[in-house]
Amino acid sequence: MKIGEFELIDKIRRQARDGAELLLGIGDDCSVIEVPVGYDLLTSTDLLLEDIHFRLDWTHLHSLGVKTVAVNVSDIAAMGGRPLCLYLSLGLPASLSDEQVEQFLSGVFESLRSYNLFLAGGDTCRSNGSLMISVTVQGLCLKGQQVTRAGAVVGDDIWVSGTLGDSALALDLLQSGQPLSAFIAERHFRPEARVALGQQLATEGLATAMLDLSDGLSGDLNHLLRSSAVGACVDPERLPLSAEFKVALQENQTLFDLALSGGEDYELLFTANVQSRVRLEKLSEELLLPLHRIGEIQSGSDLQFCTTGGRTYRPLLKAFDHFDSTDQ
Ligand code: ADP
Ligand code: MG
Repeated sequence: MKIGEFELIDKIRRQARDGAELLLGIGDDCSVIEVPVGYDLLTSTDLLLEDIHFRLDWTHLHSLGVKTVAVNVSDIAAMGGRPLCLYLSLGLPASLSDEQVEQFLSGVFESLRSYNLFLAGGDTCRSNGSLMISVTVQGLCLKGQQVTRAGAVVGDDIWVSGTLGDSALALDLLQSGQPLSAFIAERHFRPEARVALGQQLATEGLATAMLDLSDGLSGDLNHLLRSSAVGACVDPERLPLSAEFKVALQENQTLFDLALSGGEDYELLFTANVQSRVRLEKLSEELLLPLHRIGEIQSGSDLQFCTTGGRTYRPLLKAFDHFDSTDQ
């Protein structure tokens, strides 16, 4: 990298656009954001590390920029909020070229535009080792309307948006050196945060609990169950799978566990009262986004996988845990 810290910040600042709520943006010690009366401020932070969360030999810097924004916006969507602004902190290794930094930033700004977000600040530093990206995203939701993980009650349906396992399938193919179809690559490298769905579920009061699927269905659903102090039964035969995933599955049945436990789908998983079924089916049509009912909340604390025929299914994989030594 030839470009200096201040030159780079200046470059970033020139591309950052204004937002109505941004009273003071990049260039001072703090940003100043006006939270409109009647709204609550949502904030979430994520750390993305080279060779842990992404590999530069598999990932184009532009799509890394796009994904960096999308996965953070997904957390705002999962609370039912409207994304507002983003803070971008970078630890940049000297080995990264100016052109690569440029590509990364063009992906970031493309994604910011697509979610109508403004960049309100960040930090820039040289890294001795690998590329480090830390993103903080903020969003707004009407006072008290945020959907947490803690509201699921016994008898609620469990719903999921989109399809499951496509992103993990991409990773599986990359690891074994196989090519990716355009669809599978898109699902892995350019996931779309389900903002419109999250907001609609919150404003209509449809979701009793919600989260986004970053670590895999079984792991993330377990987080929701623990927060809500309930158990669940999920029917593995009802998991929504893409046509491409089904083709791969025909050749290798064990790939099914990617739909159950594979990470990075960034779909929304939520619970809803059975009386909301008709409205949710309509909402799915309105948003042109599949919504599938995959199970139900039960008493207890266990997550069970059982088909309508009464068969029990035991997944092979488990959710990714950064600190789990058995993963090594
Ligand atoms: P300080 O020394 O107070 O941390 P900096 O020189 O690091 O200030 O940053 C100056 C301004 O540039 C601040 O408003 C900061 O938020 C912004 N900034 C720095 N790095 C980035 C970045 N990577 N993306 C967006 N804004 C940034
Ligand atoms: Mg700084």
